[in-house]
Amino acid sequence: MNLILFGPPAAGKGTQAKRLVSERGFIQLSTGDMLRAAVASGSELGTRVKSIMDSGGLVSDEIVIALIDEQLTNNPDAPGFIYDGFPRTVGQAAALDSLLETRGTKVHQVIRLVVDEDALLERVTKRFEEQGRKDDNPETFKTRLEKYNADTAPLLPIYAERGVLTEVDGMGSIEAVSGAIDGALGAAV
Ligand code: AMP
Repeated sequence: MNLILFGPPAAGKGTQAKRLVSERGFIQLSTGDMLRAAVASGSELGTRVKSIMDSGGLVSDEIVIALIDEQLTNNPDAPGFIYDGFPRTVGQAAALDSLLETRGTKVHQVIRLVVDEDALLERVTKRFEEQGRKDDNPETFKTRLEKYNADTAPLLPIYAERGVLTEVDGMGSIEAVSGAIDGALGAAV
């Protein structure tokens, strides 16, 4: 099972991915988490991506595709993968298709969390106050939202055309969103 959790930053993808990991044993592939770990470790990769992340820009396709490729290779027996924050560009989506094709699989489902951008800004301002993530400050968050609309939202019609896209209301409580996602996943997993 390859499930993409789709939506703008702070839509709740990470929360839902972690729940599906604990309930279903899937593996969460969050490129944002991987990149933050690289920055925290002070690795060469971390040094390269830090300023891009702090400004709300997108790291190169090449870097994030390599991170995903590595995880797929390291986890050959996983019952499923949840892609959280990846793919974010048309190039990343094409690369994911070929990474999966070479492993005899494909993108099975894309669940889009539909959220209101003003509500997101409120959510992120709160997260910024609680967690202090530099790229959550309101100005940077606006850049991240613009990037989402310009580079990531264009993937939606592609997945819709393939018949793998389901939209769920991402504005309810965590329980309500969880229920909607479980309904969308149905008996398939
Ligand atoms: P996230 O936690 O998913 O919002 O990611 C935090 C930051 O990491 C983003 O604002 C980007 O700078 C970078 N990043 C994460 N995933 C990707 C990706 N798939 N493509 C490019 N940049 C990414």
